[in-house]
Amino acid sequence: MINVYSTMLRDKEELKVKENKIKLFVCGPTVYDYSHIGHARTYISFDIIVRYLKYNGYSVFYLQNITDVDDKIINRAKKTGEDPLKLAHRFEKEYLNDMKRMNVTNVNFYARATEHIDEIINQIQTLIDKGFAYETSTGVYFDESKFPDFGKLSNRNVDELTNNRINVDSTKKDPRDFALWKKQDTQPYWNSPWGNGRPGWHIEDTAITESYFGSQYDIHGGGLDLIFPHHEAEIAQMEAASGKKPLVNYWMHTGFLNVSGVKMSKSLGNFITIKELLEKFEPDVYRFFVLSTHYRSPIDFSDDILKQAETSLERIVKTCSNINEALNSSTLPDKDNGAIINQLDLFINDFFKAMDDDFNTPIALSVLFDFIRFLNKQLADNNISKSTLITIKDALMDVEYIFGLTLFKDTNIVDTDLSDDLLSILTDVRSDLRNNKQWDLADKIRDDLSGLNIDLEDK
Ligand code: AMP
Repeated sequence: MINVYSTMLRDKEELKVKENKIKLFVCGPTVYDYSHIGHARTYISFDIIVRYLKYNGYSVFYLQNITDVDDKIINRAKKTGEDPLKLAHRFEKEYLNDMKRMNVTNVNFYARATEHIDEIINQIQTLIDKGFAYETSTGVYFDESKFPDFGKLSNRNVDELTNNRINVDSTKKDPRDFALWKKQDTQPYWNSPWGNGRPGWHIEDTAITESYFGSQYDIHGGGLDLIFPHHEAEIAQMEAASGKKPLVNYWMHTGFLNVSGVKMSKSLGNFITIKELLEKFEPDVYRFFVLSTHYRSPIDFSDDILKQAETSLERIVKTCSNINEALNSSTLPDKDNGAIINQLDLFINDFFKAMDDDFNTPIALSVLFDFIRFLNKQLADNNISKSTLITIKDALMDVEYIFGLTLFKDTNIVDTDLSDDLLSILTDVRSDLRNNKQWDLADKIRDDLSGLNIDLEDK
């Protein structure tokens, strides 16, 4: 049973989904510059969450949008003299490349806002038709007064919502109302029933999720800064358009990556790009650093903390390399390893207990370190038999998959499809040998496979 903290409930609850299938949407980046390591914190956290869900047998469809039309992109393009869409797609490529280097590999589909303009227009039209949106000379706006639930995710009241608005457009009925469509005749613009223009920021996400998931789905994620107003606006748009509640069952938010207690952000200029970081540290060191704090808590970044992460990771990798070395040696004892197996079971139990508790990676890591310490001692004393060591390695390879780290550097990664195919060829050859009464060769194949922990049963 996995418990997940949902921002809406402000508490943990059991993850319940139909047929073990999860539709997950996480807000993607606005691509107007290189991504920084704060972005990476959020996307690595969700990558680990998805890995854990998959490990537990869930089939996850992970969708992310790419905001490729936005004020920030247009302003940056004005400065560089580039076409805004070209600039956005240049930085989108950089983002995808950064994610690949960080081993963030579980997004099934990246959906660009500009490739969903028809869906956006349709959703805005539905909101107008149902009386939740209105047109003015500057655009189309969502009428917040028609959606009393506005503020239910962030727990903000109407006064706060009103006071927080600056640069209010005078054509709006109420300062709280937000743009669904911005009228403009300069590039980039698209034709719509309300004239030329471009979508507001919030509507792209619900138009995209409705296209792929329908009006309701399982999990929505993003950084804490998106709760208000972005995620509130998403709830308002989709629940108003569909008449169905809730938009999603679980709202998951990551804490900030801070520098000296202040959120790392482009606007404050206190950021380090992923590219810059990877000039100094391996991607796994940053991943390990992210894992060492719970995804909802803030993390303070500094070079020193990253160096500590590097040293800690090296300790685990060293143990894994010792395991590989021991497995290749012929000096392993033939012992009853009951006590060691007990320790392994304890480790596995505590590791999964931590991960089941809202993906508590720092506790899972501390449990791992306890086991590594124990293992180092047993390896040094040459107490572990080959079969026990293979079982231990299997467990650590599961950790390797879930955390997305490379712990066993010299292990050949076997493509499972390929190994299944090879196995099927081998079993066919063995059947032919048996049919031809070549028992010795057939038995040799069975015994050799058994040495790889693959047991064949003759029927
Ligand atoms: P943006 O491109 O600014 O919309 O950000 C993309 C994602 O990165 C959002 O989910 C943000 O919440 C997240 N993000 C931005 N800055 C940070 C940070 N300093 N720490 C953690 N997540 C962040």
